[in-house]
Amino acid sequence: METEAPIREVIEEIKGYGGDAVKYCYQCGKCDTVCPWNKVTKFSMRKLIREATFGFPEIDMEETWRCTTCGKCPQQCPRDVKQVDDVVALRRLAISYGVSPALLKPVRIAGASLVADGNPLVVERAKRADWAEGLNVKVFSEEMELLYFPCCYVSYDQRLKKVAQATVAILQKAGVDFGILGVRENCCGESIRKTGNEELFKSLARENIKTFIEAGVKKILVTSPHCYHTFKNEYPEFKVNFEVVHISQYLAEFLQEGRLQVRGEYGKKIAYHDPCYLGRHNGIFDEPRGILRSIPGLELRELAESRENSLCCGMGGGRVWIDTKMQERFSNLRVEETVGLGAEVLVTSCPYCIIALEDSRSGLNYEDTLEVKDITEILQEVI
Ligand code: SF4
Repeated sequence: METEAPIREVIEEIKGYGGDAVKYCYQCGKCDTVCPWNKVTKFSMRKLIREATFGFPEIDMEETWRCTTCGKCPQQCPRDVKQVDDVVALRRLAISYGVSPALLKPVRIAGASLVADGNPLVVERAKRADWAEGLNVKVFSEEMELLYFPCCYVSYDQRLKKVAQATVAILQKAGVDFGILGVRENCCGESIRKTGNEELFKSLARENIKTFIEAGVKKILVTSPHCYHTFKNEYPEFKVNFEVVHISQYLAEFLQEGRLQVRGEYGKKIAYHDPCYLGRHNGIFDEPRGILRSIPGLELRELAESRENSLCCGMGGGRVWIDTKMQERFSNLRVEETVGLGAEVLVTSCPYCIIALEDSRSGLNYEDTLEVKDITEILQEVI
């Protein structure tokens, strides 16, 4: 393990940290029974909470960065322990002491890129709006109906650019007066915060808020549930309150109001994967299903772990930057289950989930039998 500070001191400090866990956890282990890691390897949130609380054997720093913040364990805890908050607090504390396990190397690279270019992908800021070339997308101005905020991965990643392009095609078809910030857009900061880098999160949030205010933004449309979560639930910590809408909510409303009409058919069997930050963390389960059910010919098959019980794809909590062994990827289980259900398309509504599910699809050699799609890519084909 690479560390920049004496680990003993940090552990001593962490021993004193317990937050709410110190009062409430009675070590029942329910958190471990629902943790997705225990489907693929061994990980004990119960143990981590115990060690953070009482400083029993030394805390394993690598284990501290394992949690994907999926939110399944707090739902089950009989003592109302906030495990996700506690784990993020532990990470913050460790980072404040300069502890940095080797597995965080890609997180450090992402952090440096966020500082230099406002994205974690080590790509120039100047290229942020390249995905929109030739699409007649305007730069946001105050009189527009809304700001479309695609997010870093959707702006830069070759696979995910298609999601931004599908979104634009739908918005244009529905006659929405929208714009983008282009090179003025910065990462929302959600994931870097979950890795424990609070300072960088705050600086990104402040920059974004300043840009939103200067540009006269009131309503923000997002593709990523991670942007949704942080704009809606975390930016209010800075005393601002922008109206935030996830694309699935926005389009479900359009279909209900008749602002968009489904004209074609989609004759395939599909399974819908609930992203943790859209579903469990923010209660958006019905809107994506409403969109899919409005499409003639489409047969929706539910995965066993769905809605509140959805299985995490493995990319939250900053794990999008941390390599996970092939045999330990939760997304593999999701893909196998989808194939077992006889579905031909695995649909979701989150860029991180798409990255994980696409990797599993190709890693498991299902490229010819299974497609992974964002909900906008399906809708674009039938309007
Ligand atoms: Fe402790 Fe709650 Fe986990 Fe039980 S479910 S071990 S009370 S954190």
